[in-house]
Amino acid sequence: MADNPALFQASQCAQGRPKAVVFVHCQNQDRLLHHESEAKQTMRTAHVKDLMSRCQKHGVKGHELDAATYQDVAPLLTDFLIKHGVTDVHWNVSTLLNEQRRDEAVKVLLKQAGIRFHEHQANYLFPLGQVRKSDGGMYHVFTPYKKQMLARLYQHMPLPVPAPEWVTQTPDSTETSVLGWPVGEAAATQRLHDFLESNDYANERDRPDVGGTSQLSPYLALGILSARQCLAHAIQVQGESAMESVWVSELVWREFYADLFWEYPKLVMNQTFKAQAKDLWPGPEHLFDAWRKGVTGFPLVDAGIRQLLQTGWMHNRLRMVTASFLCKLCLVDWRMGERFFMQHLIDGDFASNNGGWQWSSSTGCDAAPFFRIFNPETQSRRFDPNGDFIAEFVPELRGVSAKEIHNPSPETRKQCGYPMPVIDYKKSRESALLWHKN
Ligand SMILES: Cc1cc2nc3c(=O)[nH]c(=O)nc-3n(C[C@H](O)[C@H](O)[C@H](O)COP(=O)(O)OP(=O)(O)OC[C@H]3O[C@@H](n4cnc5c(N)ncnc54)[C@H](O)[C@@H]3O)c2cc1C
Repeated sequence: MADNPALFQASQCAQGRPKAVVFVHCQNQDRLLHHESEAKQTMRTAHVKDLMSRCQKHGVKGHELDAATYQDVAPLLTDFLIKHGVTDVHWNVSTLLNEQRRDEAVKVLLKQAGIRFHEHQANYLFPLGQVRKSDGGMYHVFTPYKKQMLARLYQHMPLPVPAPEWVTQTPDSTETSVLGWPVGEAAATQRLHDFLESNDYANERDRPDVGGTSQLSPYLALGILSARQCLAHAIQVQGESAMESVWVSELVWREFYADLFWEYPKLVMNQTFKAQAKDLWPGPEHLFDAWRKGVTGFPLVDAGIRQLLQTGWMHNRLRMVTASFLCKLCLVDWRMGERFFMQHLIDGDFASNNGGWQWSSSTGCDAAPFFRIFNPETQSRRFDPNGDFIAEFVPELRGVSAKEIHNPSPETRKQCGYPMPVIDYKKSRESALLWHKN
């Protein structure tokens, strides 16, 4: 309800209180189009329920509509609005291609019905398409994009809007959680506060065993929290210097990938940013199979995948390590990994996920160079030095010494019931380098 410009403006226009709040679910389509995970859909449904009950508590009627496909949204919503005698409708825009088409169809029917519509920007710091080079083109490298973004922010800081005045009570904490992720705006805001009050992000962000990141991505992906709120809180707690922090830089990566999608709709359609990138990846099915089950025999890779399967979330370092393993070392098409992540992530974000996979596979914009291939064992020793993270998610290896856990001997593997490596790292690296180079 906070920093929800559509809700805020609708309240301003309607003498302080909107007639109704409507949410149109389109779960099948979200699953088909973006491979949205059950975890994310359950999380969204729980949050919509929470929103509706808070509206109800404050005397504003909440309605949930179910559309089978995006095509059904326009007639369903328009009929509903006509039936309720609505004259003006406000919404926050979606920036993905099919969602825009959906909304265009809504606008056509609303115009025919004589209902006014008002669009608002909620999801990003600036409306997409605005942070551009002097010639109007989109940046293809992150650092100058960020520089331009920061310059604009210093000129004009986009402030979050408060919850509408009729929302007199601060949100209660709900008891509900999805895969251990607490539901509700209160929980999300609390997490943001707690993280900003005490973190050592610059030093700990790469350590999955320490968990030094904010874990706010599920809330950002669903719009429970906004990037504007994150930035405003960061500045409130850390002062202006927050603008130059690594954490804010990560928020800008989110904007960068979304802006690339905005500029290049081909990215939404399964295509690589680099046109010359190969389209046929020779990686065999059994390697993908071992990877997706978390039984590759590379402990850190398996721990990362199992974290995803169990919690719906994976630490950023491990997203990079597991992605590199799949498409660099195993030469499996990155799009298979991209889809698998979306099917399981509670924070699945089409643009960030695609950006991360195209970065990892060296097919994307400002991507890792083709010869950058993570060595899973070295990564493991560096970022999970005691093997605590591995031990948490790969129970077979609990009790194996910190020295050995990153790459157990064949005897230890046998004793623990842990598989042998599915690839020979050195040989795979050599053939991968050659293939990627070609
Ligand atoms: C292969 C791959 C796939 C990814 N898929 C997703 C995805 O589906 N959804 C998603 O939100 N992020 C994705 N990321 C980015 C990143 O891994 C997650 O945003 C991060 O791990 C979320 O944890 P956090 O909230 O603790 O992040 P923090 O480190 O606390 O960062 C704060 C916020 O900044 C944003 N952010 C951080 N890193 C990135 C990044 N590299 N790219 C874009 N935004 C970022 C997120 O919204 C995050 O919540 C992916 C990265 C890779 C390499």
